[in-house]
Amino acid sequence: MNAEFVFVGTELLLGNILNTNAQYLSEQCAALGISCFYQTVVGDNSQRIKDAFLAAWNRSDCVILSGGLGPTEDDLTKESVAEALGLELVLDSKAMADIREFFANRGFEMPAINEKQAYIPKGSIPLYNDNGTAPGIIIEQDEKCAVLLPGPPVELTGMFEKDVRPYLQKKSPYVIASKIVKMCGIGESRVDEKIRDLTTGENPTVAPYAKSGEVHVRVTAKAETEKEAGKLIKPVVRELKNRFGDYIYSTDPAVTLEKSVVDLLVSNNLTVCTVESCTGGLVAGRLINVPGVSEVLKLCYVTYSNKAKRKLLGIKKGILQKHTAVSQEVCEEMLKGAALINKADVVVSVTGLAGPDGGTEEKPVGLVYIGCSVKGKITVEKHIFKGNRAKIRENAVAYSLILMRRCILEYLNEIAFGSEDK
Ligand code: ATP
Ligand code: MG
Repeated sequence: MNAEFVFVGTELLLGNILNTNAQYLSEQCAALGISCFYQTVVGDNSQRIKDAFLAAWNRSDCVILSGGLGPTEDDLTKESVAEALGLELVLDSKAMADIREFFANRGFEMPAINEKQAYIPKGSIPLYNDNGTAPGIIIEQDEKCAVLLPGPPVELTGMFEKDVRPYLQKKSPYVIASKIVKMCGIGESRVDEKIRDLTTGENPTVAPYAKSGEVHVRVTAKAETEKEAGKLIKPVVRELKNRFGDYIYSTDPAVTLEKSVVDLLVSNNLTVCTVESCTGGLVAGRLINVPGVSEVLKLCYVTYSNKAKRKLLGIKKGILQKHTAVSQEVCEEMLKGAALINKADVVVSVTGLAGPDGGTEEKPVGLVYIGCSVKGKITVEKHIFKGNRAKIRENAVAYSLILMRRCILEYLNEIAFGSEDK
């Protein structure tokens, strides 16, 4: 089965809002094994909605439309589709009762304009809306279907999950399942090189994609059941684990890089402290994304100014003057100062030049030192990140987490081998 989407809304054409429904529906249909070859965005104009809809209807088994089911005059999707298919609109009494109740629950009487939302094309299937007033609609005709969904993402996703996914699942003979192998501390081109033989296969397909500091490899299989798709995916994931070992931090969709670091800290009872300059607390922010971090997180410093580095961490004025704040020496002093005051097992420090001003030939914008100490063993890395201020800081944060993970794993390996020797 193939499907295509028509997104209705002048605000989408003007770039006022991001078409997140497109991403959501594309992902959902791919997971259902439904092929999508076209997507259209059209403004709030009845003729153009009809044209866009009919073009889609004529070449696809299923057309999913988003937006324009509201009560106002520029909400024209339902009327345009009904007209294009020659269907009259009839009152759906349950939809009307739902809309009245929606307003009554908020202490209002239903405005007269909302009445039009309770009308649906004759013979269609209403999808009642748990998160708003407009019902969604499924129209079946000539072995094809049109699915009309409200524009607000919370309404569209709620309705898709409750009614549309089960409906489409029955129509699609395949499932598409995928597993993502998440890696860090290795570049995309190296990953690409090492998996070239795996990326030529058709089922499953293997594709890497990069995000700051990380490379994710997605293994996707198409089969009649989820179980069969899983069987196709499993040996490839095993092979990736063989090839990439510790570079892989997780294959669980719920585990982020920061979660993998926090899990290592918590499971090994290691306390942590962050000391940040150019990242201004973003490393701490990523760690604090993870519930349960309070068990191990002792203190987070943001020492952006030299004065803060002196007063809070006890770094000597002479060291700052001699080496400047963005230097290997100061990065190390940041670690030592924090470790001394807090007695944390793991300390991470970041100091760098995020720009856009202040770069020199010797110390260009993008120069960032990242340090990590685990039980007193210090590692400092020098990076030169490309991009604007936001990108440089984003990379500095990602690489801080990656360095923490690497240093903790090294420490754990050392103690494991130490105990083997005895
Ligand atoms: P309403 O009853 O809110 O008018 P509707 O079904 O008529 O719902 P629209 O009027 O097209 O939907 O859009 C309402 C709001 O939903 C938009 O202002 C926007 O915030 C959001 N929205 C609409 N389409 C999309 C989309 N494709 N992606 C993300 N958000 C969207
Ligand atoms: Mg609307």
